[in-house]
Amino acid sequence: MHFSRIAAGILCSSILAGCGGGSNEVPQSEAPAATTSGAAEKFVPISYRFTKDSAPQTIWVTVKGGNAYFQSDINLGPIERLREAEFSPDSFTAESGGREAAGVIYPSAGRWYKGVVVYNESQLPASVRDGQLWTAMNMIMAKSPIRFSRDQDYYKNVTYISSAPVYTYDNIALYWQNFDGASAGSSQIGRQGGTQGLFATDRLSAAGFAHEFLHALGVWHEQSRSDRDTYISVDYGNIKTEYRSQYDKHVSDGALVGGYDYCSVMHYPAKGGGMAIDNAKPIIKLLQNFPSCIVQIDAVQGAGVSGIGQDSGVSDGDFATIRALHPGVPELLPFAYAGPNQKVITPVAWGTAAPVTFSLNASKSYHPNWISNGARIVSYSWVPVGWSPTCSSQYPGGPVTCSTNPIVNANSAQATYSVVMNAQSSQEERKVRLTVTDNAGRSMSDVVTLTAARY
Ligand SMILES: [Zn+2]
Repeated sequence: MHFSRIAAGILCSSILAGCGGGSNEVPQSEAPAATTSGAAEKFVPISYRFTKDSAPQTIWVTVKGGNAYFQSDINLGPIERLREAEFSPDSFTAESGGREAAGVIYPSAGRWYKGVVVYNESQLPASVRDGQLWTAMNMIMAKSPIRFSRDQDYYKNVTYISSAPVYTYDNIALYWQNFDGASAGSSQIGRQGGTQGLFATDRLSAAGFAHEFLHALGVWHEQSRSDRDTYISVDYGNIKTEYRSQYDKHVSDGALVGGYDYCSVMHYPAKGGGMAIDNAKPIIKLLQNFPSCIVQIDAVQGAGVSGIGQDSGVSDGDFATIRALHPGVPELLPFAYAGPNQKVITPVAWGTAAPVTFSLNASKSYHPNWISNGARIVSYSWVPVGWSPTCSSQYPGGPVTCSTNPIVNANSAQATYSVVMNAQSSQEERKVRLTVTDNAGRSMSDVVTLTAARY
């Protein structure tokens, strides 16, 4: 938990979902003494089932803000719910309540419907939204079926999806905060149902964001894999007692996805930072030659990496894991991005009309890899969500004018749109949906939030 990036993770390509029952003999570390030091944090053991059918095993978690964090950045959910699950394991069902109680991923319930991750980035600083977050989303989308959208109703607008998801309000809220000396970010494992959080700090790199998103997609840390002892050795003698369980294997019986991947963005680095007794010595040693590998660092580029615990990008092994988690979802789907949420506060005095013009642009709504594979965006639509620009004066309520001039240019993948709203004394918030469709008739949507207000 003392890595500069939370992302410095361990990775377990094994899909949670695929980890069926079985024996539970993976003890590797001595149990540390439970601690209550620090008003905000406790380090405690819990009995935990990684899947519905697997035997419970004891793991150590850090309790912060009522939530249990495993291996520093994996938020297993409220500790009280985990305690309840310990005492009533028979209550597990495939319903969301059982899933929340157990904090585990079921074979399909923990996946994002058709690989679409609905997110809300409104709490992030603009520089992070346009920087690390944007880069992370692009590196994940580059070679996977995953698409990101802020449209909770995306399934109504995506032509390759023929039915609604079971849970239609699932989304990841991105929060900006600083943990006390802990990880640079954190995430829950898999889709939890409803709104779940992904916490980021200014120490979270683009690859770190990708790491946390992969947790949300259902991927554990790589060094937790049951087969890891063939590939790495862990020097428990160099780990502070209280952190030893952070290096344990915990998936003893699961179906692993692909081979062990030294290059994964989900792998712990060799050195343990604050978890090591002597940080000059590595905790993790490689038992096999490290293969040279290239990881995806943004929408189009790759970069070579030469050591475990890389903080650069998503590996081919990571992509294979993502694909395995989303069977049947086509790749190279269109991508819609309606631009950043916009808010304008006008100083115009009360009693006079205060029109505010919002300019929208879909120029980022394509993916270079996708375009280069022969696909083309052939149409766009901008549609107000739940409101109707009337282009007539309705002061002081509602929009006073509107302008709907979509400019479609498939070559530059650009479509602009402008909306004029009347700023009210309080906030006037409207949403506009962008839908893009490619030459194969596949579409994807996104929603942007526009806010007009007066002082
Ligand atoms: Zn992690």
